[in-house]
Amino acid sequence: MNEFQIISDYFLNLTPAHDQLILGIGDDAAIWKSGRGKQTVLTVDTLHVNRHFLPDCPPSSVAHKALAVNLSDCAAMGAKPVGFLLSLSMPKADERWLVDFCKGLQALANQYEVVLMGGDTTQGPLSVSITLMGEIKPNHELRRSGAKVGDDIYVSGTLGLPSLGLAILRDHRYCPEAAHDEAVQAYREPQPQIILGQSLLKLANACIDISDGFASDLTHILTASQCGARVMVDQLPISPLVKEYAADAQQALDWCLSGGDDYQLIFTVAPGQRKLVAELAEKLNIPLTRVGQITPGCELICQDAAGETVDLARKGWEHFADE
Ligand code: ADP
Ligand code: MG
Repeated sequence: MNEFQIISDYFLNLTPAHDQLILGIGDDAAIWKSGRGKQTVLTVDTLHVNRHFLPDCPPSSVAHKALAVNLSDCAAMGAKPVGFLLSLSMPKADERWLVDFCKGLQALANQYEVVLMGGDTTQGPLSVSITLMGEIKPNHELRRSGAKVGDDIYVSGTLGLPSLGLAILRDHRYCPEAAHDEAVQAYREPQPQIILGQSLLKLANACIDISDGFASDLTHILTASQCGARVMVDQLPISPLVKEYAADAQQALDWCLSGGDDYQLIFTVAPGQRKLVAELAEKLNIPLTRVGQITPGCELICQDAAGETVDLARKGWEHFADE
């Protein structure tokens, strides 16, 4: 039973519908109607030591990642983040750890002007959970469910670099110093695409952020939108460092399709809007790469340059998948 089966079997219908709950379980964040013309966006994510970060990870990076992954969910909705709650569990009150943790948390919170509104502090195994609140105008949000047959599929930035970072840290993959630092930084301190998300509000039909892996997260758009997709794997924006330092082309592709932790946005746009997407990429100075198309049916088909179907070695990260 994987995490998605647990959610749908046990939590999806735990409580009845509520007229203020505009969007519940199943998207990157929930939307709550908080007043006339006002909508609150809510999302929570937890990082556990040894599962989401390695024990020797600098505390400032742990803090950065805990907030960044929530900001990324907010970005995927096109929302403006405003504040967060911090739940921290740690084995002992380690002041040096706390000072560095707060440095990382404060820096990212200031960058996106989000305030710490409250939280919970307990003694226990090291874990950080952040609940983020954002705002979005009614009927403006980007949902996973809006993709339409014929839409172009885009992905922001590059893919795979965090997977190289993880291979360096966990598997002692060798890389020269500059590449090493860039890959480790990409893994430890992802940059949420907040401005891009907000800029896509009038442009994109559907959007999701990549946490589990490109293929897995695109599949969430397909399921929610009841459609299929064809992806040209040779068009995927593979990070140049990944091309250089992955063991081979197969591993580079696997990291891009299934590695996860990229925190880039996948979004779909009507093909008539290609010029606007290109202009946005230039304005924000972020690569926005067209990698495929939404199709009828429900399958995700990945094709190489010769038109041959590429089988996914693995789909993406799933908690409990190996049980
Ligand atoms: P993301 O990767 O964008 O953070 P998840 O894959 O973690 O999203 O979750 C998918 C959906 O299921 C989200 O809408 C999330 O709020 C919901 N969800 C996950 N776990 C639970 C839970 N224990 N109870 C209720 N809803 C949950
Ligand atoms: Mg998400």
